[in-house]
Amino acid sequence: MIKNILPTSTVGSLPKPEWLAPSQKLWSPWKLEGDALLEAKQDALRISLHEQQLSGIDIISDGEQTRQHFVTTFIENLSGVDFKNRKTVKIRNRYDASVPVVVDEIKRQKPVFVKDAKFLRKQTNKPIKWALPGPMTMVDTLYDNHYKSKEKLAWEFAKALNEEARELQDAGVNIIQFDEPAFNVFFDSVNDWGMAALEKAIEGLHCETAIHICYGYGIKANNDWKKTLGSEWRQYEKIFPKIQNSNIDIVSLECHNSNVPLNLMELIRGKKVMVGAIDVAKNTIETPEEVAATLRKALKFVDIDNLYPSTNCGMAPLSRHVAQGKLSALSAGAEIIRKEFAI
Ligand SMILES: [Zn+2]
Repeated sequence: MIKNILPTSTVGSLPKPEWLAPSQKLWSPWKLEGDALLEAKQDALRISLHEQQLSGIDIISDGEQTRQHFVTTFIENLSGVDFKNRKTVKIRNRYDASVPVVVDEIKRQKPVFVKDAKFLRKQTNKPIKWALPGPMTMVDTLYDNHYKSKEKLAWEFAKALNEEARELQDAGVNIIQFDEPAFNVFFDSVNDWGMAALEKAIEGLHCETAIHICYGYGIKANNDWKKTLGSEWRQYEKIFPKIQNSNIDIVSLECHNSNVPLNLMELIRGKKVMVGAIDVAKNTIETPEEVAATLRKALKFVDIDNLYPSTNCGMAPLSRHVAQGKLSALSAGAEIIRKEFAI
């Protein structure tokens, strides 16, 4: 599918145009409604695709232009969840958020992103990647008043995700990525049932599958948490053995400007690795040489055929100007390394 070495991609989200939703915040409300909103989302998706292609990005995402949030938009489309009577919970033991409540059996009544994926597929011949939330992160983003068991709820989410993933694959999506930042926090649960739930979500897929595990968007709660993690962030060490033994093809990680010891990637040797070479928590645009330096370090632990240069996380909270600069830096940095390897 991908011919050149070091195919670049983003983790998923990109800033939305100001006319669609106020920029630089999460859960940003839509400025339009009805058919006008539908059309505006598709226009934003077109722009996002155009900007990625202009920057030389190889694996295209939808920039998450048609969703309000990487977890809640999927949940909103399931039955069994009450979005009106919300409860406040602590997300990833870190910050309070008002979240929906599971009140009945979880069911996916209709496709969620399939139309959007078909729309993107029509616009480009490049490989496309689609992000879905992972079951464990979904469990952590709502209040359960029905199953009263995180494991059971995760299993129901996994079944709904699997239905969606199969249809995304049929729509021509090449890589389906599951976002699981919760994997970096609840290690015991990952090993007890989190990975099993993710395996259920990818069951029967023949397209490539990815898991994205990061230290969160560049918002204050996450940045404050990172300050408490000390000089070496070894969270990945606790979950990599389980991932190494799983059917997941690609692992997307935070690397640039983070305290993750890159040699931990030895634990997933053989998997493809989306190496985060762009810091999404800072507005400073990396130079291509900085990107190349991160990739060079990663190459000690990842074979070049398995290395996918990427961003540390989504770029939704950044300004469009900064995000665009970072995309170009990512491509230019990857190109430096490609040249070094060209004989
Ligand atoms: Zn992330």
